[in-house]
Amino acid sequence: MITRMSELFLRTLRDDPADAEVPSHKLLIRAGYVRPVAPGLYTWLPLGLRVLRKIEKIVREEMVAIGGQEILFPALLPKAPYETTNRWTEYGDGVFRLKDRRGNDYMLGPTHEEFFTLTVKGEYSSYKDFPLLMFQIQTKYRDEARPRAGILRGREFIMKDSYSFDVDDDGLKTAYHAHREAYQNMFKRMAIRYVIVSAVSGAMGGSASEEFLAESEIGEDTFVRCVESGYAANVEAVVTAVPEAMPAEKVAGLPPAQVHDTGDTPTIATLVEWANSAGLGREITAADTLKNVLLKVRVPGGDWELLAIGVPGDREVDDKRLGAALEPAEYALLDDADFARYSFLKKGYIGPKGLLANGVRYLVDPRVVDGTAWITGADETGKHVVGLVAGRDFVADGTIEAAEVRDGDLSPDGAGPLVSARGIEIGHIFQLGRKYTDAFAADVLGEDGKPVRLTMGSYGVGVSRLVAVIAEQQHDELGLRWPASVSPFDVHVVIANKDAQARAGAEELARDLDRLGLEVLLDDRTASPGVKFKDAELLGVPWIVVVGRGWADGVVELRNRFTGEKREVAADGAVADIAATLAS
Ligand code: ATP
Ligand code: MG
Repeated sequence: MITRMSELFLRTLRDDPADAEVPSHKLLIRAGYVRPVAPGLYTWLPLGLRVLRKIEKIVREEMVAIGGQEILFPALLPKAPYETTNRWTEYGDGVFRLKDRRGNDYMLGPTHEEFFTLTVKGEYSSYKDFPLLMFQIQTKYRDEARPRAGILRGREFIMKDSYSFDVDDDGLKTAYHAHREAYQNMFKRMAIRYVIVSAVSGAMGGSASEEFLAESEIGEDTFVRCVESGYAANVEAVVTAVPEAMPAEKVAGLPPAQVHDTGDTPTIATLVEWANSAGLGREITAADTLKNVLLKVRVPGGDWELLAIGVPGDREVDDKRLGAALEPAEYALLDDADFARYSFLKKGYIGPKGLLANGVRYLVDPRVVDGTAWITGADETGKHVVGLVAGRDFVADGTIEAAEVRDGDLSPDGAGPLVSARGIEIGHIFQLGRKYTDAFAADVLGEDGKPVRLTMGSYGVGVSRLVAVIAEQQHDELGLRWPASVSPFDVHVVIANKDAQARAGAEELARDLDRLGLEVLLDDRTASPGVKFKDAELLGVPWIVVVGRGWADGVVELRNRFTGEKREVAADGAVADIAATLAS
């Protein structure tokens, strides 16, 4: 069926919407693909819905290709299973909660691990039933703190979530790698530029969790990579390259630590200035100082406890890395009232010795290896200690990956420097293991007749987000540009000639293209050619056929929206020529 612009429910906008910041958001609204309803809530108009459905189809095909079976859960979910896993509490403000007329609690599902697990447990009972891979393409709800950039971060959005169930770890690994490949295939089909980054620190086993990040300046995720080795990781997952520790006998021989009156030096900058005026015999930089950051931390249901983190003074504590390192605990920086409560904490002069002497849990950056000597607080106002040696003068309770990662830092594999870039998370694959099957005691009978606990993987793709991601990566100053695989139409025929014969010729051309199975958008409106060309550029169908002035000379024009190339095609045989070009 030909779609006629004279009938299509579409109004394009000349100007950018006032509250839109990123290009994809502006363009999807201007081109009439989506319309805002409330923060993070959007209506899909005909063109947007066509793109969404094509993306959905690609995702579905690749999931089916690895043996996925599609099911569909409700979005409205009862509380009980989420209580079993404690997520009813853990989600906090992140989910929409509601009550039915009888006062029973529900939530709008942000993800469905609980229900997949319960369903499998309810239906299957033998090892013979596995491996099992199920997925859904479903509407999710999250009360995001900052719904942003239109459909990129919605409060209602469409996700493909799949879950693998296996009786052993090898099965889980197989399912994980099948997903990895399925994701590579689907994103390739959508012509997305992306990187796969490790999402957990190597300590947890390397590939147990990876994220697919679409490369984009406007992305909220920062990742780093090492060109030399191909290492790539989410900033939260970067493991610090650790310098070699000094052997114990050498540590003992280092010059003794000395306490100095440093005057009013509560900041790293003032301390460094003092150190360079104190005649220590060498140039001192912030990296020679050890900064101690005080937090309070609470595991769910527990009490607040003090935690001190020691990082080289030239680095900030990165909030995302800190959050990931402490998860699932809540944390906050100490405020003035907290400082007042602990008189041994001399703000600006806090040192490892005072912390440890007062029983404060003390974690240090991995660079603070045995034998490193530091300028740090001496636990008295106006005093610092010089040459305080890790492993000799203090022994921390452990290390923490919380310091910022910087361009130029050594890659954990030692191969070269790290470079950072930004990305948008489009997919996530995760070897969950037995977290949920433990919670619900999801066992089946094993080959030996004994019960085995199932192991799970969970895998997500942001289906609706992909519409914005593709728009973001492919647009130009004129408008959207869709890769053929997801374009709302295969070809956009523009009638740019008032002549009745030209019009009739264009109609016939559109009919013939349609008959060949191509999806045709026909601009049959009475608008001026200029308006129509602008709209065609804005809408972004990859191929535009212009039936214009050339018709009298027996030619139509074929334009490529990506390259801007234009080519005259003989009107006679234009259909075959165009179809061949589109197919190539
Ligand atoms: P993000 O860090 O972007 O919030 P997430 O870690 O919360 O993502 P998952 O829970 O792994 O994401 O969800 C799977 C996929 O769903 C993500 O990779 C992303 O593509 C998509 N997604 C997550 N939240 C949203 C949202 N608010 N709007 C649109 N898509 C989303
Ligand atoms: Mg999220």
